[in-house]
Amino acid sequence: MARSGDRGWWKWLAAVVLLGSVVGAFEGTAALNGAETYDVVIANGRVMDPESGLDATRNVGIRGGKIATISAELVQGKQTIDAKGLVVAPGFIDLHEHGQEPRNYEFQAHDGVTTSLELEAGTADVDQWYARREGKSLINFGVSVGHIPVRMKVMKDAGTFLPVGDAAHRQATPAELQQIDDDIDKGLRRGALAVGMGINYTAAATHDEIVDIFRLAAKHGASVHVHLRHAGLQEPTTGLVGIEEVIAAAAATGAPLHVVHITSMGLKNTPRLIAMVKGARERGLDVTTECYPYTAGSTQLESAIFDPGWQDRQGITYKDIQWTKTGERLTAESFEKYRKEGGTVVIFSIPEEAARTAVADPTIIIASDGMPLTGAKIHPRGQATFSRVLGHYVREEKALDLMTALRKMTLMPAQRLEKRAPIFKNKGRIRLGADADITVFDANRVIDRATYEEPLRYSEGIQFVFVSGLAVVKSGQLVDGLFPGQAARAPVSQ
Ligand SMILES: [Zn+2]
Repeated sequence: MARSGDRGWWKWLAAVVLLGSVVGAFEGTAALNGAETYDVVIANGRVMDPESGLDATRNVGIRGGKIATISAELVQGKQTIDAKGLVVAPGFIDLHEHGQEPRNYEFQAHDGVTTSLELEAGTADVDQWYARREGKSLINFGVSVGHIPVRMKVMKDAGTFLPVGDAAHRQATPAELQQIDDDIDKGLRRGALAVGMGINYTAAATHDEIVDIFRLAAKHGASVHVHLRHAGLQEPTTGLVGIEEVIAAAAATGAPLHVVHITSMGLKNTPRLIAMVKGARERGLDVTTECYPYTAGSTQLESAIFDPGWQDRQGITYKDIQWTKTGERLTAESFEKYRKEGGTVVIFSIPEEAARTAVADPTIIIASDGMPLTGAKIHPRGQATFSRVLGHYVREEKALDLMTALRKMTLMPAQRLEKRAPIFKNKGRIRLGADADITVFDANRVIDRATYEEPLRYSEGIQFVFVSGLAVVKSGQLVDGLFPGQAARAPVSQ
């Protein structure tokens, strides 16, 4: 018994040693090949990260929707995308996109956008806005609480997108003012990313009303994204006067300020408006601005923008306005007819020099101001802004370098929002632990294809787009049936 017992002990020991070596060998194999370690590997791409300045060939491994490795060594995953010759950048963040329907998201994904935000007009019902998109969205989405829609709701304005009645043309009563403030406060408590404002469209809103809303935004640490009260060239209603109002409100209340589409506000005086933003920042105010890479704006013909005197204010006339349903340029007669009917127009009012100056400026964020797809001849900006900057202004015109352009579409918009909405600390970067929202494009080929004549064309050269680690664009083609887009929302306080 004793001898056989000894043999049993040795057998047991041998088995343990053998088992140990098998486990060891298995681990060794895994470590050696990295087999199945990552869900997806984007291999051999030119990784460009505006935060760290990294610009080198790297392999990016994604696991659980996050960036899990950025390695010069080969790594393997369940899926590998060969990105040789392509730029691997953080997914683009669009602070200003009015089109927030599934079809807009498809155009934006083709343009490299992984997070699409409606921060200028915003919504009057933050909960409902997010609920409508939750689990159904191709890309990430987010919204501000909007002074325009709140004022329209409180003052019972009949307009659909922009005010046409009392919300544009009448001062609010004390009771209405209280309701407007309460609704904006509620939207911020429900996690709105910012406060949206379009003072030019609510022209009867007093300066007091505006300052009170800045005060509310400051209380919640929310930036105010403003379309200025005045735009254009005619004293005393120039873009400069418009920017004075909101810089003063920001300074006095402490609210961060973001001026939307500075080129359509300043027109040929855009450099003067940019200087105001820079000056405010140099004196310690949190003020930013944005632009789109086009020489036309777009809005509703029935809005207060086209109240009498618009030609002198904007320095344009009928023929500079395009009716988006047909593409025709307007006359005095068709202007009257379509203004009654209501609808979207494209306005050719921005000098190329102004557009180029803003696009090239390293301190100005790129944002599309894309419009709902309501006509055959709508503005192309919602479909093509980011590819146009990369293809036309970076590659063809050499107006700015690639890393600067990427910073203006990724890191800077994320930083604009991250104090209020900490989820943005993990967006706009290629960094360990960041969300795997990644855009992979061919810098030699990327270009906008949407035009004023043919606005519904996908951009070219955006090869792969990942949202939370899932490819929604693969080899330049949209992938059907995926909805990885998540709510980009500030913390809900009550
Ligand atoms: Zn606007």
